[in-house]
Amino acid sequence: MDINNYDDLIDRAYENIPENVKKLSRFEIPKVQIRFEAKNTYITNFNRIINILNRDRKHFIGVFLKKVGTMGEIRGQQLFLKGIYKEQVLNRLIEVYSKTYVLCKICNKPDTDIQKEGKKIFLKCTACGAREEIKEK
Ligand SMILES: [Zn+2]
Repeated sequence: MDINNYDDLIDRAYENIPENVKKLSRFEIPKVQIRFEAKNTYITNFNRIINILNRDRKHFIGVFLKKVGTMGEIRGQQLFLKGIYKEQVLNRLIEVYSKTYVLCKICNKPDTDIQKEGKKIFLKCTACGAREEIKEK
């Protein structure tokens, strides 16, 4: 294969993918960008991440901080975490959050809302109509 044509090949392959399959791949959580300051961690692209997740900030932070096992807060555009944390750990925990609270269990799309009913919470999918109870761990 001519390596110079590789990009063309990819472009052509992508054009041949049906629209509905392309849509499946549009949900991509940005990897965390972090900086350390005085033995604390700042997620500097927090705004972008929360916009993609499309969830309530307070809800996300409540769940996320519990999983990380630390205290933290929003500071401007950034999320402050007390302590030093590796990118890989934070990325994995954000992924865990999105699997539980964002992605539909049936069709795997992110077009969902969280609905509360008494003590139970449900993930309602606007793409396929599924409604699944979220089991919080
Ligand atoms: Zn669905």
